Amino acid sequence: MHSPRFTAEPPSNDPVERDFTVRDVSGLRSPASDAGRAPMFDVIIAGCGPTGAMLAAELRLHDVRVLVLEKETEPKSFVRIVGLHIRSIELMAMRGLLERVLEHGRQRPAGGFFAAIGRPAPKNLDSAHAYLLGIPQPVIERLLEEHAIELGAQVRRGCVMAGFEQDDEGVTVELADGEQLRSRYLVGCDGGRSTVRKLLGVGFPGEPSRTETLMGEMEVGVPQEEIAAKVTEVGETHRPFWLRPFGEGVHSVVVPIAGVSDRAEPPTLEDFKQALRTIAGTDFGVHSPRWLSRFGDATRLAERYRVGRVLLAGDAAHIHPPIGGQGLNLGVQDAFNLGWKLAAQIRGWAPEPLLDTYQAERRPVAEDVLDNTRAQTELLSAEPGPRAVRRLLTELMDFDEVNRHLIEKITAIGIRYDFGAGPDLLGRRLRDIDVKQGHLYGLLHRGRGLLLDRTERLTVGGWSDRVDYLADPTAALDVPCVLLRPDGHVAWVGDDQQDLDGHLSRWFGRPAD
Ligand SMILES: Cc1cc2nc3c(=O)[nH]c(=O)nc-3n(C[C@H](O)[C@H](O)[C@H](O)COP(=O)(O)OP(=O)(O)OC[C@H]3O[C@@H](n4cnc5c(N)ncnc54)[C@H](O)[C@@H]3O)c2cc1C
Repeated sequence: MHSPRFTAEPPSNDPVERDFTVRDVSGLRSPASDAGRAPMFDVIIAGCGPTGAMLAAELRLHDVRVLVLEKETEPKSFVRIVGLHIRSIELMAMRGLLERVLEHGRQRPAGGFFAAIGRPAPKNLDSAHAYLLGIPQPVIERLLEEHAIELGAQVRRGCVMAGFEQDDEGVTVELADGEQLRSRYLVGCDGGRSTVRKLLGVGFPGEPSRTETLMGEMEVGVPQEEIAAKVTEVGETHRPFWLRPFGEGVHSVVVPIAGVSDRAEPPTLEDFKQALRTIAGTDFGVHSPRWLSRFGDATRLAERYRVGRVLLAGDAAHIHPPIGGQGLNLGVQDAFNLGWKLAAQIRGWAPEPLLDTYQAERRPVAEDVLDNTRAQTELLSAEPGPRAVRRLLTELMDFDEVNRHLIEKITAIGIRYDFGAGPDLLGRRLRDIDVKQGHLYGLLHRGRGLLLDRTERLTVGGWSDRVDYLADPTAALDVPCVLLRPDGHVAWVGDDQQDLDGHLSRWFGRPAD
């Protein structure tokens, strides 16, 4: 397969909605000479945001040679606080990162996130980590990047991925300074304005931004009581809107503005003052900003996650408004799903369709997140109709089942991949249960499969180089045995060796001789 060779114009600040210009550069090295070159890397990842860093670490668990290209010379400095939801916290526990992230975050109640409707989470959520972890995005990015580097990933900062061409053997990647690199696969983790996605020609249909909101952290010049009263009053008619104390005299400020501007331009403090005066009649004496940014509500999903040897993950594959705090979580979970599959492909043991299950599993999850953010956005409207729907939903959330359903969606613990007919557990992630060695997730740090066998009579046989085995009749499971994939999803439930062997083949390829 030879796709045309394209390179991007110099890095663009254009809003994601604008068309991206590509130019054919047939003057680059010929495909024939590329095809003969041994890849320098197994995988090149464009972008060292949370998705790219997580993917690099996952690949390194399997000794894959990884290079991450990041255009920024320094990690991001603006402190956007994000929430790690339950499933992402579980992922951290599964890779031995839990203590590190807990040290830097604040545990908060898991409830109250769906459209910011203030209902507490239902009791007995199915997780050992049933809380939200508030953590600055630069911190989680740094921790993930450090983790990837500790595992042996190379990260090159100040490197802009500007073009690529794929052929039968690999991908030739061109940097903005003209340097060429070669790898077997390329993954675009380069954010919502993804160069990789645009150069691939993958469609990104959806809705453009209709609204724009300013967000930042700054000090205020009036007493807290005055702010609280005004925020409650204005919040009745304008959402999202808040000024929340954030510690050390700093307030987190979110204020909608009229119209949609060029989002590449960061807002100024004066923009904030003006927006606050417009909707609250006062600018609260805001001053000394720590950082200022803006976001829109564009909602888009890539038509494909893979074209040959090039894949997309994270914001490069999907964008949506930040309501509910799901974007980073979704990207990190994409990386967790893709990592072991791409590693299996490179190590040579992947069964034929394994890599394609990445799109088959993750694209529907993103579709669902896009839909729930669309719904949440409507519920934030100050129009009478949506406000009535919001009141009704608020009432419905008093029913445990409704509340549970919504929180399982936002926290991603309700996901069930379609692995075919079988018991309800099949395709779901398994919570962290107690096992005789301690915690189940403690046994998953190496990113391998795991057979948890309460019958003590099954074996992983010729798959023992890829799948660990734990015989534990005391494990807190109500089924005899489960086979877990490296991402902790249940690939098989049962007690029959022949049936198990079939499923080991399905997910882990042919047994070793
Ligand atoms: C106001 C706001 C609040 C949010 N709150 C939350 C929240 O609470 N919870 C949550 O889960 N999510 C939240 N999000 C969403 C979250 O920030 C994103 O979903 C997340 O950053 C996506 O991670 P990513 O790694 O896929 O992409 P990005 O973080 O965009 O990283 C992409 C990286 O690629 C690099 N890059 C781009 N192009 C190139 C190139 N050509 N070559 C080399 N490098 C390149 C960029 O410099 C960047 O470092 C919020 C977003 C906003 C705007």
